[in-house]
Amino acid sequence: MEREQRAWLAHALVLPYPGQGHINPMLQFCKRLVSKGVKATLANTKHLTKSMNIDPTSMIDLETISDGFDEGGYAQAESPEVYHSTFKAVGSESLANLIKNLNDSGHPVNALVYDGFLPWALDVSKQLGVLGVAFFTQSCAVSNVYYHVQRGLLPVPLSEPVVQLPGLPLLEASETPSFIYNVSLYPAAFYYLLVNQFTNIDEADWVLHNTFQKMEEEVLDWMAKRWKLRTIGPTVPSMYLDKRIEDDKDYGINLFKPDSSACMNWLHDKPSGSVVYVSFGSLAELGVEQMEELAWGLKGTKRYFLWVVRAAEQSKLPGNFIEETSEKGLVVAWSPQLEVLSHEAVGCFLTHCGFNSVLEALSLGVPLVAMPHWSDQPTNAKYVEDVWKMGIRARPDEKGIVRREVVDLCVREVMEGAKAKEIKDNARKWKKLSKEAIDEGGTSDRNIDEFVATLVKS
Ligand code: UDP
Repeated sequence: MEREQRAWLAHALVLPYPGQGHINPMLQFCKRLVSKGVKATLANTKHLTKSMNIDPTSMIDLETISDGFDEGGYAQAESPEVYHSTFKAVGSESLANLIKNLNDSGHPVNALVYDGFLPWALDVSKQLGVLGVAFFTQSCAVSNVYYHVQRGLLPVPLSEPVVQLPGLPLLEASETPSFIYNVSLYPAAFYYLLVNQFTNIDEADWVLHNTFQKMEEEVLDWMAKRWKLRTIGPTVPSMYLDKRIEDDKDYGINLFKPDSSACMNWLHDKPSGSVVYVSFGSLAELGVEQMEELAWGLKGTKRYFLWVVRAAEQSKLPGNFIEETSEKGLVVAWSPQLEVLSHEAVGCFLTHCGFNSVLEALSLGVPLVAMPHWSDQPTNAKYVEDVWKMGIRARPDEKGIVRREVVDLCVREVMEGAKAKEIKDNARKWKKLSKEAIDEGGTSDRNIDEFVATLVKS
């Protein structure tokens, strides 16, 4: 049925922070809502919308708001501080206008589902009398660290070598998010962006996290006592999990164009479990020395590898690397990551531990080599190794560089070492639990039903 003709139960406006790792989970949440009869509109910034490759068959309505930098987006702002303060000022007004326009169009908005990075959106929802729903694209564990910092319960800079927080394993200081541990290394705007997620959280009507009960049981128990917190993940396209949403096999909005046929053709004739897939996501910028160590480390494994090196990063590859490794490796600028991870040729994923990448690996049962770069990734890597036990960490030296021998060793360990069997068994277990969570009657599915029921009553 055409979407305009459907009798919708309610209408949710969904506002992600402008970045691939935020759009993907929030777009998928929209699809879940639509599958349960709720109209979902995804609002992206005007600038980002110009560069998006959008799946034309998508059932999600798209709208735009202004972040104040409609021509160049983040890169146009003179500093991260200016970007975020302008986004708040211009975005609040633009968002309010969008909600008013949608209300006038005959599909009044019942709830604003806003990215935790944009807490000012909650004020807009309150002013306009719609439910304000915080959506976090990070793990609950990471949220709990930022929450404690924001409330002054965990002083920054950290004063102790280990951090003990309710519901979390003991964390070494370096296992907390980098903007907490290495606060002086980054612009203050990054610290405030992350910590300020919790300034007004007590006023949110709902707090949603893209994770699931069994992944984070203890911390969830603790946090759910404070807010109406519900898990709704993993937000991996349905065809990889419960298969209940027809044709949902891709996220559908790409900020980079994937080299799909190059990747899939190359994987096609590789033996089962033989390939190392390597990706550092949409933002990480590796230093030249790190890039070289990783490159020669991959070559040293003597295994097949498929490495995503974004166009802007490719000049950092050693000059002769691609030619020297053409028998074994393929370097692409962007991959169809889900298709790649679900291909039987892939034996492990060397990842920066962006939370989406971790959730995708968990959902598809792919063992991990964790090589965190910044932000929440060190905490995610700790969980990958010690809590979910589905991979190992490639540890840096005192200069912060993961050396080639370490890359080689970790890949071997995960694919054929003493821990390989346990890691593979756990990966299979998480794949099963991910599907269960989102499938009919699973914890996340029931939470989404409960949320939908509230929207309908609002
Ligand atoms: N991704 C992709 N192709 C690539 C690399 C990444 O489609 O070559 C997708 C990946 O599936 C994930 C998102 O981009 O959904 C990256 O999000 P993540 O949280 O892992 O990292 P971020 O980019 O936010 O650092």
